[in-house]
Amino acid sequence: MLESLRRIVQEVNSAQNLPQVLDIMVREIKGAMKVDACNIYLYSPAQSKHVLMATCGLNPAAVGRVSLDVKEGLIGLVRERAEPVNVEDAQTHQRYRFVSDTDEVKFHAFLGVPIIHYRKVLGVLVIRQSMVRKFDENEESFLVTLAAQLSGTIVHAAAHNDTHHLFVEKNADGQFLVGLPGSPGIAVGTVVVVYPPSDLDAVPDRLTENPQIELTHFAAAVEAARQEMQNLAQKLSTTLPKEDRALFDAYMLMLKSDALIGKTQERIKAGNWAPGALRQTVQEHSRVFHQMDDPYFQERAQDLEDLGRRILKHLQTTDTTVVKYPERTVLVGEDISAAMLAEAPHEKLVGVISGSGSGSSHVSILARGMGLPAVMGVEDLPVSRMEGEAVILDGYVGRIYLSPSESMLNEFTRMAREEKEMVRGMEALNDLPAVTLDSHHVPLYANTGLLADIAPSLGVGAEGIGLYRTELPFFIREHFPGEEEQRQIYRQVLEKFSPRPVVLRTLDIGGDKMLPYFPISEANPFLGWRGMRITLDHPEIFLVQLRAMMHAAEGLNNLHILLPMITNVIEVDESLKLIEQGYQELIQEKVAVTKPKIGVMIEVPSAVYMADAISKRVDFLSIGTNDLTQYILAVDRNNSRVAFLYDSLEPAVLQALVQTIAAGHRNYTPVSVCGEMAGDPAGALLLLGMGVDSLSMSAASLPRIKWVIQSFKKSDAELMVEEVLQMEHAEQVRSFLYKKLEAADLGRLVRPWK
Ligand code: PEP
Ligand code: MG
Repeated sequence: MLESLRRIVQEVNSAQNLPQVLDIMVREIKGAMKVDACNIYLYSPAQSKHVLMATCGLNPAAVGRVSLDVKEGLIGLVRERAEPVNVEDAQTHQRYRFVSDTDEVKFHAFLGVPIIHYRKVLGVLVIRQSMVRKFDENEESFLVTLAAQLSGTIVHAAAHNDTHHLFVEKNADGQFLVGLPGSPGIAVGTVVVVYPPSDLDAVPDRLTENPQIELTHFAAAVEAARQEMQNLAQKLSTTLPKEDRALFDAYMLMLKSDALIGKTQERIKAGNWAPGALRQTVQEHSRVFHQMDDPYFQERAQDLEDLGRRILKHLQTTDTTVVKYPERTVLVGEDISAAMLAEAPHEKLVGVISGSGSGSSHVSILARGMGLPAVMGVEDLPVSRMEGEAVILDGYVGRIYLSPSESMLNEFTRMAREEKEMVRGMEALNDLPAVTLDSHHVPLYANTGLLADIAPSLGVGAEGIGLYRTELPFFIREHFPGEEEQRQIYRQVLEKFSPRPVVLRTLDIGGDKMLPYFPISEANPFLGWRGMRITLDHPEIFLVQLRAMMHAAEGLNNLHILLPMITNVIEVDESLKLIEQGYQELIQEKVAVTKPKIGVMIEVPSAVYMADAISKRVDFLSIGTNDLTQYILAVDRNNSRVAFLYDSLEPAVLQALVQTIAAGHRNYTPVSVCGEMAGDPAGALLLLGMGVDSLSMSAASLPRIKWVIQSFKKSDAELMVEEVLQMEHAEQVRSFLYKKLEAADLGRLVRPWK
């Protein structure tokens, strides 16, 4: 059974379009289960019907023509119950509905299982047999397993199919792919695909203007791969038995074969660049090998993929093509990293689309900091076919529209313009402080990490930098930056903002922030070696950074140092000791430094419970709601599958915030919030009522939050907190706060298109 399951899934996954996916499914399932018919009905929201989309056993002419109302027949019953319906003789069942034109009259036994994708019933997979009998438990669970495994493939195929928009959500604007809101805003632009090195599947197709040069590069890469293989074979010639060495002969043959080399050359001549042509050829052949049952061919598929990666590696080292970023570039990738975003030319970017991640991933935070709309976690993004395409992305709701029509482009361009006007309208607030209607001042600081962010932060009237994520300068280098290099970077920020305060956070890598030159491989990176845990284990890295920070503040005295991912007071004490050591060293070296203020990030639940003890040791607390939400709710902030559970307005998170603020204030320690909640109008309103001392957010969010602060009385926000703390789930909290914002005429900040 397991073998059949694996084979069917593999074959279906290699299909090119929706009709092929469904045809392979019905044919293979009918054969593997030895039944008389297998049919697939898909639900069409447009018609409110189940449509017969594929059959092996019924009259093929009925496909696409036969349909049942949503509640009609046994198919309707499967949908209603969202579980299998197993009937000995369908024709005697009260819900049975005979459908003419299908030859159904021959069949009695019926087993239908729902095809469900993320809680939504997409359709029903049915097997039939002419005899009267009940399908056994194994048959039932086999079909359930298949339907569960293949529902994603069906959605993916449907999303990219020109004619079968049956169950992909549609609105008047046309078809879209659904992702998660990453950073608010609308963008209309041209796709540039970025991908990690040596990942053949992620390589996009890209038109080449000079096939001859591509052919030369390809030939050189093949030759380099051949040389590499030959060296390997020689190295192992004394240790490997003769029959195992035959593997290298097979590799050598493949490197000369028409199937791999000739086909790739043909594709280059037809206009694709070498990496794209290579990907197409390798994928085509490995698909064929994978379809064969024989384990020998399965292994050949792996060899071929391995060779493909080796050639790609050499292509990439000789790659001289400079990626062309058109005006209005939308950066697209299966897994966009913060480094990829940092590398792209800022002035040409208008948006970001990533196949993985969510609104709380660091890439989203960075995008927000840069004022770029972003859509994350778009499942099965067709990256290889997107290069150079026009695209619209809606970062408010998390949708992307591929190859949009002229009218859609016009409509979205208009929306993007209106949005810009709204932002421009807020510019009048830039020079005003954030003061509530009852005269309470809430300093608003900016989160930053790129030097390019500093100017916008000053422009929007940030009263300081509340969080400078120092890891970004570390990302874009090939080794840890030295002390002087770091000092210069920090100096620029401290100087630009002086005399306003600047909070420099010490290196917070690990989790989803990996340095290319310091790889960490762990099963649970967010629960592993992260932030302070790494820097305390490597005082040589930590001390260099601390000295660079303190030295950079010489004569300015506006430096605050913030410690990330603190779990217990021992870590605080050890960090303070190292800070003192760095300070004393600089004093001995006659650098005129003063002691910086030290703060701790409260972002691990244990730190919430220990907030009293922590407050006594430091000068300020800064709540990192991004990680705090992830750890309190046990929801990976980067996992799009569980993103719907991630919400900083969950009452459990709100209780933790109230507790932390109270602990800080009991010990006369100011409490700030620097997580994304501070930049969310509804979140900021609550934090105002909870009595936080300052808020820190991306420059792009700052004017909106200032508008919120200026539109309410602190005393009213306090009453809102009282009411909200009685509520039991985030949705209730959100809708309550949205109503308050709407009543204050700020609805546009949270629901711009209503
Ligand atoms: C946080 O966790 O809320 C935070 C501000 O830090 P980061 O997002 O960089 O982890
Ligand atoms: Mg954090």
